[in-house]
Amino acid sequence: MESIVESQYTSIDEFINCTPEKQADIVPIEDWSKIEIEEKIKVDWHPHPLKKRLTTESNGWACDGKKQFVKCLSGITGFYQTAGVEGWKCPPCDFDLCKKCVQVSLMIERWKERED
Ligand SMILES: [Zn+2]
Ligand SMILES: [Zn+2]
Repeated sequence: MESIVESQYTSIDEFINCTPEKQADIVPIEDWSKIEIEEKIKVDWHPHPLKKRLTTESNGWACDGKKQFVKCLSGITGFYQTAGVEGWKCPPCDFDLCKKCVQVSLMIERWKERED
């Protein structure tokens, strides 16, 4: 019997350009969920470092992942949907990212490093 376990890796461009539903399919969940995020991190598509939000901070933030992906990968579409969601922020820009969007951003950076 042939193995049907195939890598779901695709190119970064294909990933970024496809629909959110497809994005969720083609990124193996275990790949991004294993990525540890530090208190302070940097994603390559925002010019400043991001700092982890305290869980006691308000839930009145919306994820800016939609500026990079087709939409936020946690499905956050507006404000007040983020109670209990871990997030990272850049206060001067009023820029916020949820955990999943940070993890996938870091994963894509790793893909790029591998391809270079
Ligand atoms: Zn997000
Ligand atoms: Zn910033």
